[in-house]
This record gives sequence, structure tokens and C-alpha cells, in this order.
Amino acid sequence: MVRTNPTDAIDVSFSHYLAGRKAVTESHMEGGIPDYAYGSDYVLRQKIKAIPGFYPLAKAIANTYVPRAKQEMNLHALRVGPSQFPDVYEIVSDCAMRLGIGIPTVYITHAPFEINARAYCTEDDDPLIEITSGMLERVTPGELRAVIGHECGHIHNNHGIYSIAAEMVLNSLQIAIPGIQQIMGLISAPLQWAFKMWSRAGEVSCDRAGIICSDTPEDDITLQAKLMYGAALNHQEVNIDAVLKQYDLLQDTPVRLLELENEHPLCVRRIFAMKEFLNSEVLYTWRPEWKTPDMHLIGKQELDARCEKYISVARSEKRRVKL
Ligand SMILES: [Zn+2]
Repeated sequence: MVRTNPTDAIDVSFSHYLAGRKAVTESHMEGGIPDYAYGSDYVLRQKIKAIPGFYPLAKAIANTYVPRAKQEMNLHALRVGPSQFPDVYEIVSDCAMRLGIGIPTVYITHAPFEINARAYCTEDDDPLIEITSGMLERVTPGELRAVIGHECGHIHNNHGIYSIAAEMVLNSLQIAIPGIQQIMGLISAPLQWAFKMWSRAGEVSCDRAGIICSDTPEDDITLQAKLMYGAALNHQEVNIDAVLKQYDLLQDTPVRLLELENEHPLCVRRIFAMKEFLNSEVLYTWRPEWKTPDMHLIGKQELDARCEKYISVARSEKRRVKL
């Protein structure tokens, strides 16, 4: 009798694994948008795209700006790879695989006092992530995974052209194109507000991507706290409960409306929005191993409605997540 190994029938090749991952990640796309994306992010992007001629202009500028940014980074920054900061490369590869995107090129830039990261992507070019040396120095490996997962989220959500458009409108794009300042000067204040609103909404989508890619969601929350105080002295023991109490102080003053000028939501708002995501069904479709039988999970619509109450600057409410 010929004995056969029952596992022989199982295809354990890497290509088979990749095909399986692709099928899983495609099942998370709804109309070209990841299923975890914050509703306001998509709605505001549709409004921006509906402005006649604006999207093609932003796309044309992005197609010039991003390749140039890559070339400049290659001159001045360190390119991460399997033999250069392999631990960072491994995190990038893991996050890309988790979300089902290609592995972005990563550069570490010399900016010791800047705790920042940024994704560059267009529809026609390979994506790129910049991580400042200040960020790398001040976060734990788990928090770095949250950072990189968040930036991969910008790529996964196709934020690239809109980010460039936002920088054009808000006059922060470092590019010399004849006449661009004059064109942008014609853009009305309401449109500038709309871009800021979209930019804040887009961050919520990407914070969700960061959690999906993390080892533990705690890393995403401590990362936000570190962004508040610059991770001075690389202090590892931030009291998150005390941080959350700052939200209550914020709600008691009209000074909070100053946030309307910001392109990122306040970190404490982001933490509350993340906590809502931890109670959502969609997260556990990505990370079923985190699910426990005692969880009472909310659907996507309810999740977005709850997040809106934290993220919307003018209409935000007292917190509802209990400590
Ligand atoms: Zn971001």
C-alpha cells in the first residue's frame, strides 16, 4: 500500500499564500473603498472630486511633485530595505501585506526635532513613506507599527492626490509652478475649510488602518499621547486616563473652535474615535483573533455616527466612551 501524506495536497507555496491574502483583502473593498474607511472621508472626497477641473489639475501636479520628492529624498535620506533597517522593513512589509497593498518604499529623513511621517502616492507611481528620525527615536517598535500602518492607510485609501490638492489649496505645497499661487488665490475660503475638514476625516480612516496593522491597539493610543507632548525624554508611561480627561476640558470652551484651522484632529479626539473603532464589527473582520465572546459590537453606520460626535469640531459632544 502506498502511503500518502495528507498535507501533500495542501499548497504551501508563497504564491498560493499571496493569492489567498489578495482574495481576503479584496473582500474588504466596497466600491473601491476599504470597508473600514470613515464615511465622512469618502463623502468629502466625492465633493472635492465634483469640482470641475480641480481633480485633474491636482493629479497633474501630483504626478510632477511626487517623483521629484522621491528623487530629492534619495539624495538626502536613508532608504529602508531588507539590508538597511531590516526591522523597519519587516514592519512595512507586514502592514502592506495586512492591507493588501504593494510594499511602499520607505525613507528615513534627518529631522531629529520633527516627530512625523508622511505618505506620498499618486495613481501612477509607486508609493513612498517618509519617517523622520525624530519619530524613529521616540516611539517603541509597536508604536512604529501603528505609524507605518497609518501611513499605509493613506495609500490604501488613495488619499495621495487629495493630500496634494489640500496642500495646493492651503498653500503649503513646496513646489514652483508658474501661476499656481494666483490660481489658488481665487479659491474661496469655504473650499479651504472643506479641505481642512476632509483632511481631518482622512486621518480617522488611517488611524483605523493603523489599528488593523498593529500588534495591539494600545500602541496606537500611546502613540497619539506621545504626539501631544513630543515624547520628551522618550517617556514610556503616559497616563492615558488623564489624557482623556483633557477632552472634557476641551468641550467646556469655545476656544476649541480654533481646531477648525487644523488639518489633523486633536490627538485626544483621535483616541476617542479609535476607542469606538475597537467596539466595531469591521475591526474584527480584519483581526478575528482579537475577538472575545463578551464583546458587544456596533455596525459601521453606528461607528461612523459615534466618531462624528468626537471628530466634528463644531458639533462634538461630551464623551460617551467610559473609562
Ligand atoms: Zn495621516
